[in-house]
Amino acid sequence: MGAQQEKKPSEERKYRNTQNNTQTSQVQWGRAWEVDWFSFASVLFLLMFAPLIVYYFIMSCDQYQCCLMNPLIDLLTGNKHLSDIWNKTPMPTYRAAGIYALWVTFQVVLYICLPDFCHKFLPGYVGGVQEGAVTPAGIVNKYEINGLQAWIITHVLWFANAYYFHYFSPTIIFDNWIPLMWCANILGYAVSTFAMIKGYFFPTNPKDCKFTGNFFYDYMMGIEFNPRIGKWFDFKLFFNGRPGIVAWTLINLSYAAKQQELYGQVTNSMILVNILQGIYVLDFFWNEAWYLKTIDICHDHFGWYLGWGDCVWLPYLYTLQGLYLVYHPVQLGTANAIGILILGFIGYYIFRMTNHQKDLFRRTNGNCKIWGKKPEYIECSYMSVEGTKYYSKLMTSGFWGWARHFNYTGDLMGSLAYCLACGFEHILPYFYIVYMTILLTHRCIRDEHRCLSKYGKDWKRYTVAVPYRLLPGVF
Ligand code: NDP
Repeated sequence: MGAQQEKKPSEERKYRNTQNNTQTSQVQWGRAWEVDWFSFASVLFLLMFAPLIVYYFIMSCDQYQCCLMNPLIDLLTGNKHLSDIWNKTPMPTYRAAGIYALWVTFQVVLYICLPDFCHKFLPGYVGGVQEGAVTPAGIVNKYEINGLQAWIITHVLWFANAYYFHYFSPTIIFDNWIPLMWCANILGYAVSTFAMIKGYFFPTNPKDCKFTGNFFYDYMMGIEFNPRIGKWFDFKLFFNGRPGIVAWTLINLSYAAKQQELYGQVTNSMILVNILQGIYVLDFFWNEAWYLKTIDICHDHFGWYLGWGDCVWLPYLYTLQGLYLVYHPVQLGTANAIGILILGFIGYYIFRMTNHQKDLFRRTNGNCKIWGKKPEYIECSYMSVEGTKYYSKLMTSGFWGWARHFNYTGDLMGSLAYCLACGFEHILPYFYIVYMTILLTHRCIRDEHRCLSKYGKDWKRYTVAVPYRLLPGVF
């Protein structure tokens, strides 16, 4: 299950292309160079409304017991004014600022000062210095993979301080949730703005920068591909995993502690959400080296989308189920709880196995067994910006023969399980599955667009061999 990272991108035999770019269209792969009106409108919409959406959800829980409609009804009927809601919203506090600053600093220290030791004793785990994918400029970056270690140390310290030394209450995150949200926003905007300025004035690798000429698009989707400070502080790897994903399990633990404090017990739905999301988070860190080859790290540039998204959107909206269960403690019947657990496990299994199959296939250059047989694949080629030609393979068997993104399907099944754990009384916890469906469908289309410009006619052959995207026979 551990993703063995190759030392060189072994699946890609390369040679310098001397044929004067007969495939120039393929040189343009990577983030867009030009912005169409729809992308521009989406960017403006998200820049304006995404922070409001986060605020609206969290405020609805704080002031309206997680009922999404009631704030709107109150405002539309004149029962309340915006100022009434705003005046009841907790403001930033020095305490929250202190907690947040300490949190981020601690994660930075764990990230850059503690080389990984987990890979030395955990069989199958890939940590330490690893290489990322080839960038459009033909660069292979090195990363220090130590996320699992950071996660373990953080959680051991959390339990020790909250339950043994009693330095803080385990409900500390819930109790400061909205003040912390302002701090997360400040960091999210600061880091995105810094990344934009850095992209213009002191980029880490100018050849991997993209300027569309559209300020808002560049701010949101990023200019630099792999911004770094020094040799090791990689913005994408740090913000993608820490502080948001390390915090995810702590946030859920804090919600469980709050349930215990308020009701004297932790419901089975809260335990389910903690377990299923905990597995997802641990999977992320166990496979952090493998994530270097996923879209977030190896295709997306670093802008507001990743910077603000990782600081605010992820920790606040991916944890809505636990927050909801603090306000509505749902105790599921045994059959329902088991059904949800099974759905979550099946989803996770599909998600992990599909990702594993691709990883194994790419790592061994197709010299492996998928479901007991030699994998089938399509040979394809692409070019880097500098005109170097690379060869690669697209697998057409295993889960990758069922659909072109069956890993997303598994992810969606798991996401549905988290939501179902919250029962059917309110729609707020179902935001996650709606959002994930939109995100992964859009991502699927975005990825395929990129793969088409990267592989050209080879990608078309692949889509003929595997005609469905997410659900065989349906989509
Ligand atoms: P994938 O892991 O599916 O990677 C897509 C890339 O894989 C393509 O760009 C292509 O890259 C390569 N590829 C595509 N088809 C094949 C094939 N048949 N054989 C071999 N290689 C192929 O996508 P993501 O990086 O988006 O997702 C990784 C995981 O992370 C998924 O399981 C997803 O569900 C999860 N995820 C979760 C999110 C969350 O918020 N919870 C957000 C995003 C992702 P190449 O250029 O190398 O050919």
